[in-house]
Amino acid sequence: MLGTKPVTLHEDQNRDAEMLAHNIRTVFQQARKRSTCPQKLIAELLVAQALEQKDFSIDDLWHQLRQQDARLGRSTLYRLIEILVHEGLLDRIDFADGTHRYHVCANKSHQHLTCVHCRRFVEVSLTLPVEQFVNAGVQADFALEGFTLTLFGRCSDCRSQ
Ligand SMILES: [Zn+2]
Ligand SMILES: [Zn+2]
Repeated sequence: MLGTKPVTLHEDQNRDAEMLAHNIRTVFQQARKRSTCPQKLIAELLVAQALEQKDFSIDDLWHQLRQQDARLGRSTLYRLIEILVHEGLLDRIDFADGTHRYHVCANKSHQHLTCVHCRRFVEVSLTLPVEQFVNAGVQADFALEGFTLTLFGRCSDCRSQ
């Protein structure tokens, strides 16, 4: 059972969550020139998600936000989510079926291992051979701009069913 829950194993998660809350608000304050209301709402929702360590889809977030502010545009939400992913405050979890969800992360350098059955995920650390990827690009005469890695399998709970 151990190790199958979507939990970042930090000793003092509360302090991490407070730091995250601060970081999210800072990112939004810097982007605040355009409009203030939705950013504040989203920041508050994400802080709540961070404290509960929940993962969510854009649709989940959209529905929650619409209940509080019906004027919020979906493109605004996408743009703000992109900013947070870019800043490293939100992580995108890619599933084997091509769908994805997000979670607020404290720990920057990790990958996600997802269960194909219950869609639970864990964070794992890998040392990736980045030079090899770059070299593969060079050999094909490409300037490599990125790569994605999707790790998936079946968790112990699902295996024992
Ligand atoms: Zn993560
Ligand atoms: Zn599972």
